Amino acid sequence: MTSDARPPEHVLQMPPPTDAAPLEEAFADSFVLFNETTRRYMEAYKQLEEQFEYLNVKLEETNRELRISLEEKDRVSNYLNNILESMSGGVLVTDLDGNITVFNRAAEAITGRSQDEVLGKSYEEVIGLDAGRQSTVLHTLETSKGVSSKEKDLKRADGRTIPLGFSTSLVRDAEGQILGAAEVFNDLTEMKRLEEQVRRMHTLAALGEMAATVAHEIRNPLGGIASFANLLERDLETDDPSRRLVRKITEGVARLNRIVSSLLSYTRPLNLNTHPVDLMQTVEEAAAFFEIDLERKQQAVEIRRLFLETPCVCQVDTEQFHQVILNLLLNATQAMPEGGTIELEVAQTSDADGDWIVTRVRDTGMGIDEELQEKLFTPFFTTKEDGTGLGLVTSRKIIEAHGGNIVVDSTPGDGTCFTIALPL
Ligand code: ADP
Ligand code: MG
Repeated sequence: MTSDARPPEHVLQMPPPTDAAPLEEAFADSFVLFNETTRRYMEAYKQLEEQFEYLNVKLEETNRELRISLEEKDRVSNYLNNILESMSGGVLVTDLDGNITVFNRAAEAITGRSQDEVLGKSYEEVIGLDAGRQSTVLHTLETSKGVSSKEKDLKRADGRTIPLGFSTSLVRDAEGQILGAAEVFNDLTEMKRLEEQVRRMHTLAALGEMAATVAHEIRNPLGGIASFANLLERDLETDDPSRRLVRKITEGVARLNRIVSSLLSYTRPLNLNTHPVDLMQTVEEAAAFFEIDLERKQQAVEIRRLFLETPCVCQVDTEQFHQVILNLLLNATQAMPEGGTIELEVAQTSDADGDWIVTRVRDTGMGIDEELQEKLFTPFFTTKEDGTGLGLVTSRKIIEAHGGNIVVDSTPGDGTCFTIALPL
């Protein structure tokens, strides 16, 4: 429509008053115009309505697309989040200021800290710099250099220090802008333990081979020395002072023989012959046998039993288990030269790894210094003049072959407790 001074068409125009006939005509014209205008109005309205409808449909469509796109984004984000949370490796991400923005479930388990407690906090405050700044994401942020497959120690929330394998890298957006840095890490405790076990087995195998040869080579001349000493003793008068020297030789030979035997039994591959047995009965058999020995040697040592009420059956090689209990009872007796009481306890416990039957041998002897406790299970470690240092290592070998473990707890001056745990 043009913008001239003419009034809009749809406004009903009153013609100037003249005589009657032209007035009628003018009315008729006006009506026609009025109708026409109304029709146009209706049309315009309809058009508007159609347009509105169209826009509505369009809007709905856009809305739907938006919803789908949002859902898709949500799905992708959830998916990525699920992956992050399901990873067995710990993932930690910081922003440019070194504040933690991502901390997945594995990271919680490995560090012993919860997401709530670390998100938004500074890396330095939460993880600390004990391992050295160069093995942290902060170093990566500062130098723009990541590290891969390195190792460090981590102090957990509970104070325990564990070995970690870790890698760090920068986090960038699609345009290459640096957003922060990420650290991916794994608890290496189990791997280190296995490594240590493999190393020990290798050493054992090598030692075993050597021991078998050496034992053979030593035993023959030893047999010779023993027989000659016997002959010599027979030739000497009963009151000959040299007899004492000959006896020393015989004792020395016996001791060498003992060492060779324990070396062989330690290094020989273990063949377990297990049966389901009541462990208390097995422990009792060993204790009763040991008591005969105590009586014979007239030692003032008493064995007090703290057993379970009901039988506890587990898979055990009784002969080897006897040997373990005898080793521990002997050590306990030797730790109490003045005599005393040994507590022999059989109990049942459960932990995250399952149910265990626990056998404890507790003495009130001299105890073991803290720095020596680590060495107890090292072959040939002994503090005794006539010790072999093979009793505990052999015991551990037997217990581990049963799928169990043996640990020591000792207070110098107060006594020692060895705890054997066997899977139920
Ligand atoms: P051995 O008895 O031949 O010395 P073991 O392997 O049985 O070898 O023990 C190693 C060392 O561990 C002993 O020499 C002793 O120092 C220490 N030990 C073991 N059991 C006890 C105990 N019950 N109390 C104190 N020390 C112990
Ligand atoms: Mg011993």
